[in-house]
This record gives sequence, structure tokens and C-alpha cells, in this order.
Amino acid sequence: MRPSGFEPELRANVETFLERKSLGRLESSPEHCICSIQHLTRLDYSRITHYSMILIINVACPYDYMNEFFDVAIVGGSAIGGVSAAECAKRGLKTVVLEEDSVVGKFRRCTSICSESGLRSTGVPFSEAALNYVHGAVFHSRNEDLTVKLKEKKAIVFDRQIFDERSVSRAVSSGAELRLGSRVTSFRRNNLSTSEGSIGTKVIVGADGVTSSTAAAYQFPVIKKFVYCYEAEITNVDVAHKDLVEVFFDNRALPGFFGWIVPVDERTARVGFGVNDASKLIRAKNDFFNRKELSSYKSGDTLRDFHASIPVRPRASTQKGNVILVGDAAGQTKSTTGGGLVFGSLCAKEAGESIAGYISDEKELDYERRWRSKYGLTLSLHRNLRRLADRIDSSFIDAALSLNRNPISLGLLSRFGDMDFLFRF
Ligand SMILES: Cc1cc2nc3c(=O)[nH]c(=O)nc-3n(C[C@H](O)[C@H](O)[C@H](O)COP(=O)(O)OP(=O)(O)OC[C@H]3O[C@@H](n4cnc5c(N)ncnc54)[C@H](O)[C@@H]3O)c2cc1C
Repeated sequence: MRPSGFEPELRANVETFLERKSLGRLESSPEHCICSIQHLTRLDYSRITHYSMILIINVACPYDYMNEFFDVAIVGGSAIGGVSAAECAKRGLKTVVLEEDSVVGKFRRCTSICSESGLRSTGVPFSEAALNYVHGAVFHSRNEDLTVKLKEKKAIVFDRQIFDERSVSRAVSSGAELRLGSRVTSFRRNNLSTSEGSIGTKVIVGADGVTSSTAAAYQFPVIKKFVYCYEAEITNVDVAHKDLVEVFFDNRALPGFFGWIVPVDERTARVGFGVNDASKLIRAKNDFFNRKELSSYKSGDTLRDFHASIPVRPRASTQKGNVILVGDAAGQTKSTTGGGLVFGSLCAKEAGESIAGYISDEKELDYERRWRSKYGLTLSLHRNLRRLADRIDSSFIDAALSLNRNPISLGLLSRFGDMDFLFRF
């Protein structure tokens, strides 16, 4: 026998209750839940009121999958997923990282150069990943060049795979659970289905990179601008400057971005470029690798090469209810350089604080407001600089480089570099 007025009022109440408590959806019918509860507790339906029944359901529903219920589920086990997970786990939140691959990380599909101060701000122990230090740059235009040397070593060239592994293992040692080979295939409000089964969660963090399935599943606004890159790590070459990066500005050959040579050691460098339109990649590759500065690289041995895109504008929104996006999934990169590790990590820290406030202290989940108020201005400054750079004609860059090749300008540029600007990737 069941109490009168069971449907639809009870169902609505149960659903509201579950939603308020972030306990997931009512998957089966209330009858089913109540049947199983009756079985468990041997209750007599006729003696319990609707509201006590709701309470019982509230307690009993998650019982089935108590071990599979988390405060936070992070989709993506790479650099930013690792920082997000560490920030949540160290605040005592029950955290799981779901990574589709059998190993964490981006498999070195990244130039991996950051300012030392920036890398330190990520919180990831990076010393074992460091490969080389640089303290200046040679800027090339079509016909001119300019060398700026800074007093101190400013940027670190590192092994991205080691960095990603350290990022995720820091999260695990802070208490997060890592599930490898767990591709998230179905997304609900408080429920994720993976190739390994389903889990319940109060908050979902999409740290699943530039092609984020989390963003697509919850219909976040699309990222409006990307740059398309090619990079090769080439060895057995004479690297011209072991302690300087080389940067190539050429709006005709490399529209919307730039080219680079980043030294790993005397014999190895990462050589790459980006353009604002994927259809321009092949032509840009020919033009770029035909430059005289790259002639020696043609006879070197390619250790790895890849094509990849970088989002250079954040999504219009990065939070929908209890679902948030961080790192490349959110488009949190600098439009000028495409660097996303430092900026993504800083936003992941904001995510950790905001989620902890929401779960432990029942505060508002204010991630979007937090990161935009801290870093929104910096991001838009980078966007404006990028827009400006895109409009500058190649002959103007030639003139600017040659005009600055005097002691006063070089002194100023060195000081500018001292402000950690040049290498804030
Ligand atoms: C050519 C190039 C050079 C760059 N150079 C630099 C640089 O020098 N310095 C710098 O700071 N930045 C650089 N960047 C940018 C930097 O690589 C990114 O900002 C950074 O990788 C973002 O990390 P992430 O953790 O957000 O995403 P990713 O590193 O892309 O990680 C996403 C993770 O999510 C996993 N995943 C995806 N979908 C699912 C799913 N459905 N279920 C489970 N797991 C999933 C993936 O397997 C992956 O492990 C460069 C980028 C490019 C393309």
C-alpha cells in the first residue's frame, strides 16, 4: 500500500531535495526508490509521512554509490587538471581526476617555456622538468633583427610531460583519486559516465583542453579565436644561441602570430610557428623553414613534431551552475604568446578556493567572478596588444627593430624585460 497523493507531489519534492543537496537526479521512479528503502529498513509505508519519506530517500539514495560520490570531479588529467585537483584535495574535498588516456599529460605537445616566477606561481614542483635557462631574445622581422639580453636568467625551458606528471602526482599526494583510462562520455548535472562506470559529484570541473567535451556537453559559448601551430623538436644542429630565444614577426608569412626557436641545449631546439587560419599552415611552414636563420635545421634530426591549436580568447562564460571550465577548456591563455600554463594554473587556484567555499561553507560558487576580477584585465590587455600587432605592417616592424638598435632603447628594453614581461608565457 502506498500513501495517498504520492505522485506528482512527492516526485517533485524529492527532486527538489536532491537538487538542493546536489545529490544527483532521481534516476528511477520514486516507487522504485521507496521499494528499495522499504526493503532496507523494513518500513511500513502507511506509517510514514511524505516528508519523512523524502528524508529517507535523501539519505538512502546515495547509499548505493557512496564510494562513487565525490565533492569534485575533474575531467582531464594534465597540467591544469592537476593544479585544480590539488587545490580542491588540499582543502579536504573528496576529489577525483578522470583522465581518458592511460598516462597523464599532454605528451610534450607544447613549446614549454615559462618565466621562472610564473612557473613557481603554479605550485607544481618543476625543478626536475627544467632543461635550459634563457635570458633574452633575438627579435627578427623580415629584414632586420634586434638582440635584447637581460641581466638575469628569465625563462625556463622544460619537459612538459614531467611537468604534467608532477602536477597530477601533487594532487594525488594531497588526497585526490586518479582514474586513468576513464574517458567521460556522458555528462549530467551531478553525474558523469565514464568508460569505467558512473560517479556522482557535487561540482564538475572541465579541464579537458582546447576541444573540451565538458564545454560542448553543457553548451558553453564557443571559443571565437584560435591560432594554429606547428612545432618540431630538432636535434643534431648548431643552435646559434643557447641562452636566447629567437622570435620571428612577419605578418605576411605568419599572419596573426609569430615563429620561434627555443633552445633546449647546444644541439637541440624547438622550432615552430602559429597562424590565425588553419588553411594558411602549409604555406606558412614553407616560408618559415626557408628563412636563412633556419637553414641549418633542415639537416637536423626531428625528435617529434605536431600540429595543435591554441585558444586565444576566453569563452564568454566559464561557469554554469555547478559546472566550471579551467585552462584551455575555458580559453584562459594569453593572446600575445599563447601561454596557458601559468594563467590556467592561477585560475585553477581560484576554482579550488571557490569550490571549497561552496561545499564546506555553503557559500556561492563564484569562480567566474573571481577569476575575471583578478585576471580579466590582464587578459584583455593581451588581447588588445595582439590586435595591435596583427595590424602592424611588416615594413613597420623592420623600422621599429632598426630604430631600437641603439644603447638607449636597448637599455629600456632590458629594463622592460626585467619587469618579467618578455617571458610571461
Ligand atoms: C604549439 C604550442 C606551444 C605552446 N607553448 C606553451 C608555452 O611555451 N608555455 C605555456 O605556458 N603554454 C604553452 N602552450 C599552451 C599550453 O600547452 C596549454 O595552455 C596547456 O596545455 C593547457 O593545459 P590543460 O591542462 O588546460 O589542457 P591539456 O593539456 O590539453 O589537457 C587536457 C587533458 O584532458 C584529457 N581529456 C580530454 N577529454 C577528456 C574526456 N572526455 N575524459 C577524460 N579526459 C579527457 C586529455 O587527455 C588531456 O590529458 C602551447 C600550446 C601549443 C599548442
